[in-house]
Amino acid sequence: MKTLFNRSGLHVQMFVVFLLSFSLTAASIHCASFLGLNLFTDEEDVALGLQLDEEIRANPDQYPVLRSHPHVQAYVEEIGHRILQSQHIQKRDIYPYQFEIIHDDSTINAFCTPGGFIYIYTGLMHFLDTEAALAGVIGHEIAHAERRHSTKRISGYFGTQLLLAVVLGQEPGIVKEIAGNLFAGLGFLANSRKDEREADTFSMRYLQDTEYYPGAIRFFFDKILEEQNRHGGTLERLLSTHPLPQDRVEHVEKTAIAQNFPEPTEENLFIKRYQEFKKTLP
Ligand SMILES: [Zn+2]
Repeated sequence: MKTLFNRSGLHVQMFVVFLLSFSLTAASIHCASFLGLNLFTDEEDVALGLQLDEEIRANPDQYPVLRSHPHVQAYVEEIGHRILQSQHIQKRDIYPYQFEIIHDDSTINAFCTPGGFIYIYTGLMHFLDTEAALAGVIGHEIAHAERRHSTKRISGYFGTQLLLAVVLGQEPGIVKEIAGNLFAGLGFLANSRKDEREADTFSMRYLQDTEYYPGAIRFFFDKILEEQNRHGGTLERLLSTHPLPQDRVEHVEKTAIAQNFPEPTEENLFIKRYQEFKKTLP
């Protein structure tokens, strides 16, 4: 997802360790940066995801993982597992797929590490109105893992010399930049518009195999636009650096027509169930 808030800033050390353990030849790195290849294997996606997951859990100040309300995690897990049953999911046996809640109401965000460690902020859950919209966002995050967008970008960005400099510790600024940007949707590691669009496409594909309205990510976009109009203030400022491109909205609208999506109703949006759930949020 294009994030609205940047609260990332993982430890630099971990990436150095990871990159050091990354047995790549200079030649393959060189090619990857030109060909847009992913130099990571699926197993390395999981290994990196595990390291990031550990890092997140070790930083409760920045990532206060919700422990006090286990039903919230269970609710999100249930939605996630419905989506993971889709015929279009290819890595359910390879990626561990875990769902965690970050207790931070001021952050309207969700992110996914490589290998399928998905984090949903309580701020996002408060922000949304329907279970289907949450499912749409979760589907979008799952798509980032399935399509391996993060490790593709990491592979593509590092030319030979830069990667060597990072590995040798000569470019700590660059490593810091990766750490800060991985989940933030900013800078050179930002999800490209192409990746965002692809994640939206796959979210819709996955949801077509569920009980949810397939184009439900649209309701997340609608909320952003609504909020933007209502209080131009804070949200406007955040959106000015992370704009919601109109083409994402149009893409969902066009897909809904082309794929003959059903009408969105209570039966596929689960508004009542979601409103009841929201009352139980911390
Ligand atoms: Zn995204």
